[in-house]
Amino acid sequence: MLLSVVLPVYNEQEVLPVLFQVLPKVLEKIGCDYELIFIDDGSRDSTRNLLNTAAESDSRVKVLGFSRNFGQQAAITAGLDFANGDAVVVMDADMQDPPELLESMVEQFKKGFDVVSTQRIARDGESVFKKATASAFYSLMQKAVDERLPPQCGDFRLFSRGAVQAIRKFREQHRFMRGLVAWLGLRETIIQFHRPARAAGETKYSPIKLVQLAWTAISSFSAMPLKACLYAGLSLTLFGVAYSLYAIYAAMFVATTAPGWSSLVCFQLIFNGATLTAVGLVGDYVGRIYDESKQRPLYVLGDSVNIEASGSNHRVVWINPPDDSVEQNSHVYRTPQIYRPSLVTEQKRAA
Ligand code: UDP
Ligand code: MG
Repeated sequence: MLLSVVLPVYNEQEVLPVLFQVLPKVLEKIGCDYELIFIDDGSRDSTRNLLNTAAESDSRVKVLGFSRNFGQQAAITAGLDFANGDAVVVMDADMQDPPELLESMVEQFKKGFDVVSTQRIARDGESVFKKATASAFYSLMQKAVDERLPPQCGDFRLFSRGAVQAIRKFREQHRFMRGLVAWLGLRETIIQFHRPARAAGETKYSPIKLVQLAWTAISSFSAMPLKACLYAGLSLTLFGVAYSLYAIYAAMFVATTAPGWSSLVCFQLIFNGATLTAVGLVGDYVGRIYDESKQRPLYVLGDSVNIEASGSNHRVVWINPPDDSVEQNSHVYRTPQIYRPSLVTEQKRAA
């Protein structure tokens, strides 16, 4: 059995030496063949040098280098695209996803599960604010995205080959991998664990980035915010009608008119604000449709180490493809080109 471990990394020079000490030992203990696929998500520190050095001395260490920072979800996608394993584990490189858990994950995989997820029952090294926002995030996700989304489960997961092949077919731009897994309805089991603090370095997620991820999760799986706008608009209209009726009644029978300009100005501001918010929300969804319609690749590869270009069967834009790809695969070019297997088959048929 071959186990692929996919590790997205972004400026992790402090943590990689620790990872290289622990992870191979754990994998040797499990006793299966393995490959480590690192996706360098446009790091600006010496992350890439550390990865290259490791890859030079061990061909099981593979590196995919993005041309810039595309984000963790894109990095996970690239890792899954290039993984060759019978089982593929996605994990963070900062030791917050403990490598020791891999053994029990593989055990569960051998029992026949397609997905082995991990659930955080406790978290170290995180502020009260982060813990509180995280639990609010998970309960909102269950309501807005998918009720099958298990709470407190991050991206630390094992996938069977079949599950990976299914996920590869989804090429949407705004990605939330956990939602995709829940949506697919794969046979899943959950292992619980205590999440330690980072071994070194700092989190790459600022509060703003976390809010963006949460919004991507909601908007790419649910039109609930649009419906909420519709209901809010309808309620306001009903309120307006009721208030008008009252104003007519008051003017005709009680002989009082609604007092004051200030109340009018307040209503004006509130209603205009609500209208603009609704328009903005629709605009955000339209913007996402616009992004999807361009069908751009999800990531661009600069270069790679120990990777065979033929490994991926998805369209890949590769600025410096590996040497073997130029000779063996005439469909991969040195200049950015779109690699489409269907096109190659068509060309062969024509010849
Ligand atoms: N990461 C990445 N690209 C990014 C941000 C993060 O590849 O734009 C990687 C990062 O190097 C780490 C993993 O994703 O291996 C999780 O990031 P982090 O530990 O900062 O997230 P947290 O655990 O704080 O949620
Ligand atoms: Mg982390």
